[in-house]
Amino acid sequence: MRKIAILSVSLICASFITNAQTPEKMRPEETEFYLPIPPVITPGAAYGDAPSDAIVLFDGTNLNQWISSKDSTAAKWTVADHAMTVNKATGDIQTKRTFTDYQLHIEYRIPANITGSGQARGNSGIFLAALPWGAGGYELQVLDNYKNPTYVNGQAGSIYKQSVPLVNACRKPGEWQTYDVIWTAPQFNSHGVLKSLARVTVFHNGILVQNNTNVLGDTPYIGQPSYRKHGPAPIKLQAHGDKSEPISYRNIWVRPL
Ligand code: MG
Repeated sequence: MRKIAILSVSLICASFITNAQTPEKMRPEETEFYLPIPPVITPGAAYGDAPSDAIVLFDGTNLNQWISSKDSTAAKWTVADHAMTVNKATGDIQTKRTFTDYQLHIEYRIPANITGSGQARGNSGIFLAALPWGAGGYELQVLDNYKNPTYVNGQAGSIYKQSVPLVNACRKPGEWQTYDVIWTAPQFNSHGVLKSLARVTVFHNGILVQNNTNVLGDTPYIGQPSYRKHGPAPIKLQAHGDKSEPISYRNIWVRPL
């Protein structure tokens, strides 16, 4: 019995020694590879500037990349001073192009003279995939929540009525603010059954507010989120019906992933 115990201990020790020696037998080159080579791009000169491989959706001069969501005619928001301003009378606008997974940069400004409270204060939104049914897609909320409380899963940086932002990173009205978004679209099988949830990461003014968040479905005002099969979709900007002064957007670009 004692011999067996000694033998076992010897075998275990030998095993440890062998394992400890294994990495030394590998050459560094065995864990290095050279393909595929990542494409070379040129980053923007400053934070927020479009990199060389971005699709510029709005450069401050025109709405050529956008159409009205309700009738697909030319977008009718106001363009001035290198910004586009919501036209509540003509409604939401959306991109002509469609996207699946992407990186998005977008900037917005709540007017300095904004009025209203709660959800009726600079309400807009970025539908990360615009859909022609239900809630109209998956909304990243845009709202003035600088000292303006509302339900927390509906404040700026939330996935509307689903996911509370990690922090409130709002700047004051009158200041330009940024969202940087990584969107991973939901996947469906050929029968329309959901294979994987959408996921979203959001930086608000450079601060992480959604960290690879699972998106549970579309984002209705009333009711639970749900999914319906879709493919590549436009990005939509909301013209919310509240009575507060319309907000503006600028410097919008996207990188399909
Ligand atoms: Mg909204």
